[in-house]
Amino acid sequence: MNKLLELAHGAQRIAILGHVRPDGDCVGACLAVWNYLAGQYPDREIQVYLETPPVKFRYLKRFDSISQDADSGKQYDLCICLDSSDAARLGAFAVYLEGAARSICIDHHITNRGYAQENLVDPQASATCELLCDYLEQDRIDRDVAACIYTGILHDTNVFKNSNTTAKTMEAAGRMMAKGIDFSRIIDESFYRKTYVQNQILGRALMESILFLHGKCIFSAIRMKDMDFYNVTAADLEGIVDQLRVTEGVECAIFLHEVENHVYKVSMRSNQYVDVSKVAAFFGGGGHIRAAGCTMSGSMYDVVNNLSSHIEKQIEEHEG
Ligand code: 5GP
Ligand code: MN
Repeated sequence: MNKLLELAHGAQRIAILGHVRPDGDCVGACLAVWNYLAGQYPDREIQVYLETPPVKFRYLKRFDSISQDADSGKQYDLCICLDSSDAARLGAFAVYLEGAARSICIDHHITNRGYAQENLVDPQASATCELLCDYLEQDRIDRDVAACIYTGILHDTNVFKNSNTTAKTMEAAGRMMAKGIDFSRIIDESFYRKTYVQNQILGRALMESILFLHGKCIFSAIRMKDMDFYNVTAADLEGIVDQLRVTEGVECAIFLHEVENHVYKVSMRSNQYVDVSKVAAFFGGGGHIRAAGCTMSGSMYDVVNNLSSHIEKQIEEHEG
């Protein structure tokens, strides 16, 4: 038996946590583990805690039972942390990790240093859900768990096309398809469908984008007043940076959105050689080689200039 199943077997009360601003891999991984364990151990007390997850994932079983209560006063025998590179990424729910007797972290972020008692970290994996596909017993993965795992892989690979996608990724996804999930519907509903305002703000961000570093970089930003005008939340901005990234000639894309006055959440993507996780880590964030983020303060132009100097250095090194 592997460490996850061994620990879960010996725990009566289990908390499952993911990262702040939960994405498809995070929500998928948390609900995969919950649905799996609930199937195996119907008598256990299990709870997933996450910041409000995007409603597009509501087709996943137990989505409506995810709790936002970071102050329940509950102590857990086991805390399972998924898809979070460090304890700070757990946000307010880190209290459940601190109070738990045992803890395990399953993650695929290269910046993960191992903050739980047990750490199953594999940066080769495209998604935390790809790892779960190995750690959960195949014949006990039902259609509901499979839908969660498939969703996680789908989102962290941007529909199986990011450079993190491997033959192993496709095999894992294939095994989930064989469980009878409605994969076409999952892809459309959770990935391609956009609300009207999401399309509007995407259009606005693209229209106002600026090329720099001889067309190798592109950036765009959305201010709080724009978000108020379109009545969108941070979750509605997902995907904008990926659209910037596919601009012809671009190596690196930066998308900023203002989270408070003169504080910006930074999303970065690269295509071939810039290591954006290095840039993000320098400014206190993290992520992957081709997708990373951080939070920075200053004016929009201060932020871009600071990022730009690091990116320019990498481009120069690459070009020799
Ligand atoms: P996104 O740009 O989609 O928000 O994030 C891209 C990747 O960077 C994600 O895998 C996420 O885990 C990581 N990331 C984004 N923001 C932060 C941050 O503030 N800190 C850390 N450690 N990782 C981040
Ligand atoms: Mn992930």
